Amino acid sequence: MAGSFAVDDRGVIVACKSCGKKNRLAYERLGDSVQCGDCKEPMAGVNEPIELRSSGEFDTLVAKASVPVVVDYWAPWCGPCRMVAPELQKVAARQAGQVIVVKVNTDELSDLGQRFGIRSIPTLAVFDGGKEIARESGARPAPEIEAFIARARAAVPAR
Ligand SMILES: [Zn+2]
Repeated sequence: MAGSFAVDDRGVIVACKSCGKKNRLAYERLGDSVQCGDCKEPMAGVNEPIELRSSGEFDTLVAKASVPVVVDYWAPWCGPCRMVAPELQKVAARQAGQVIVVKVNTDELSDLGQRFGIRSIPTLAVFDGGKEIARESGARPAPEIEAFIARARAAVPAR
């Protein structure tokens, strides 16, 4: 289901479930509850992983996001990555507003894979305040991913 959300230099573009209007959720306010600018219905926020299309998108999002960013480094040919994908969907849905989950295809965005020295996939990393604070390689179910995120967040002072 990647592709429901797009990003630009200011935030995540989300279509309202009620009226279909596209709203931009500013990176600086990803943890806030929001309502549609048009019909005023409450919006679910970013509750699915976002497939990033460029290292520029990655840099902007990681630098500005007001919530921790969970990065899934993956590639289409990687079997274990396909097992992780539905687990990350669950994590994104359950932790909407608390973290944001993004996917980095290391074939298409090889510059990011090289910059961060990603040698095996899947690799999951957590960024907070623009910095990587944790990383783990290998496939794992949603509860273990959530435990990994919780450990990473516990290790840094609250913002
Ligand atoms: Zn609406």
